Amino acid sequence: MDFQLTKEAQAIRDEARDFVRKEWKNPGHDLTGGLAAWHGDEDNRHAGGEIAKEFAKKLVDKGWYTMHWPKEFGGEEASIEKQLAYREVMSYEDAPASLGGGLVAPVLMVHGADWMKQEFLPKLASADIEFSQGFSEPDAGSDLAGLKTRAVRDGDDYVINGQKIWGTYRNDWIHILVRTDADAPKHRGITYLLARLKDENGDYMPGITVRGIPDGTGNHRWDELFMENWRVPAQSIIGEENRGWYAAMTTLSFERSNIGRPAQLLRTLEDTIDWFAGNSKKGTEDTLARAEIRNRLASWRVEVEMLRMLCYRVGWMQSQGLVPQRESSMVKATGDELFQRIYRGIAQIMGGYGNLLPTNGPNYKLPVNDFLPARGWQSIGTSIGGGTREIQKNIIAQRGLGLPR
Ligand SMILES: Cc1cc2nc3c(=O)[nH]c(=O)nc-3n(C[C@H](O)[C@H](O)[C@H](O)COP(=O)(O)OP(=O)(O)OC[C@H]3O[C@@H](n4cnc5c(N)ncnc54)[C@H](O)[C@@H]3O)c2cc1C
Repeated sequence: MDFQLTKEAQAIRDEARDFVRKEWKNPGHDLTGGLAAWHGDEDNRHAGGEIAKEFAKKLVDKGWYTMHWPKEFGGEEASIEKQLAYREVMSYEDAPASLGGGLVAPVLMVHGADWMKQEFLPKLASADIEFSQGFSEPDAGSDLAGLKTRAVRDGDDYVINGQKIWGTYRNDWIHILVRTDADAPKHRGITYLLARLKDENGDYMPGITVRGIPDGTGNHRWDELFMENWRVPAQSIIGEENRGWYAAMTTLSFERSNIGRPAQLLRTLEDTIDWFAGNSKKGTEDTLARAEIRNRLASWRVEVEMLRMLCYRVGWMQSQGLVPQRESSMVKATGDELFQRIYRGIAQIMGGYGNLLPTNGPNYKLPVNDFLPARGWQSIGTSIGGGTREIQKNIIAQRGLGLPR
């Protein structure tokens, strides 16, 4: 593989860096924005969402928000290298929402009815709407196809009963997997729907209840969604009834190198070193002068670079029209583990400072930025969300090493 970025990719990297430094006002210590807001109380969370949306609008104006979309839907079909270089810069700068449309846009492009494409793609492209994702259930995560949320046809509607978990169910719309045939083999009885979660006034639809899940930092980032006789128009099927599983699996052609992870870790390491350098007091031991600390920081830096190369390999494979499988799992498993080790390791070196959280209130000055200790806590969940470590290892073992099931 070629590790050298193309000229086009280098150009977007430089341009995006200049742009993001000028236009993205990272809220940092300000508790009204940034990660603190996404994880904070409802007012802060709302404020953080607004700040992210404002930035997304700037990306729309710049023409970058949907650079990865096909031309037929208003995108520019940017090469994988270009997307990779762009995403890397955005993640390093801690800027949110660099590419738009989430998982739902690619699914709509391939499987959506014409009215869905006309109705939703322009609004997704202009960052005017976002969809929540209704996939995981309490007993259907690794085994997603075992989902039990039941949708029964009644006239022109489906009547839906069940529970989803581990989403952020605050948007007006949701794309959701439901079981429409309980007797069929599990992959064949699933239907993929678009549905309104909230009405025009911002109230949840009848039958919907959302409850926040407190995480290790004491905040509600994730939610549970309860559906009781919730009526959804049957015309909202994406693809065909009982073929939803196959529609849901069609996002593979979009960039999925996970390049944001090493970029964010690199930034964290650099900021941490700066923080230590600026916070050593006269008369106290200089943390950065300690050989043990220097060794740890240096070896993390090497591992971040290794992770970056694994991500580049996934991007390169996609640019060659190959479909990465075990390679993506290697990125996920290695990245999760490194993420946990670095954030928790830094918190350990910082001692008491490393355990402060935005929720401790404005009287405490948090180290590095508001996010570092919170991310240390959140890192625990990263090896579960998006597929657990064991599942990634199974893929590496079976599809990579050819080991028996
Ligand atoms: C922080 C966080 C964020 C999340 N974000 C999202 C999201 O955005 N969207 C979404 O849809 N879901 C999300 N999830 C849900 C997540 O995908 C599931 O929790 C995850 O896939 C595990 O599924 P489960 O909870 O059903 O546990 P289980 O699948 O029951 O797993 C329990 C344990 O058994 C192990 N295990 C299961 N099957 C196997 C196997 N075949 N071989 C070996 N070991 C196995 C697992 O590794 C795990 O240790 C999130 C979860 C968390 C914690």
